[in-house]
Parts: sequence; structure tokens; C-alpha cells
Amino acid sequence: MSSVTQTTTEQTTAPVTTEGGDHEKFAHYVAKDKVVESAVAGTPLVALCGKVWVPSRDPSKFPVCPECQEIYNSLPKGG
Ligand SMILES: [Zn+2]
Repeated sequence: MSSVTQTTTEQTTAPVTTEGGDHEKFAHYVAKDKVVESAVAGTPLVALCGKVWVPSRDPSKFPVCPECQEIYNSLPKGG
């Protein structure tokens, strides 16, 4: 069906971890261009779940933030 309203969220996401020396060690979903921006400028990232932090490590070994995952799953799958 082509009657679906498409919301533009531009969520090119990539999991990024929180590594602040705290209890929270999750890979959060964030906009990919923001990841690049953060890497270059050292600016904090805002995850889908709303978490703000400065990433510093490879997220691959961390579990994905359940909240981010849920939001990410609810996003329309782009083509
Ligand atoms: Zn999250």
C-alpha cells in the first residue's frame, strides 16, 4: 500500500557506548553523523533514549541499551 505517511527521522543510527567510568555500560543508538561530529569535535552525543554523554570506546562489547533498542525498533525501516 502506498497510503502510508512517512515521517522523516533521518535515523542513521549506530550503537555507541557510554564509557564514563560509571555503572552504565550500554551501547546507545545515536545519529551516525553526530557520531562523526562528536569524534571530530569532542561534543557530547544524544542517544535515542535521551542520554547525553561523550563516547570514548568501541561499543561492540557492550549490550545495546534496551530503551534505545525499543525506540530503534519502532522507527520506520528505511529503504
Ligand atoms: Zn540508550
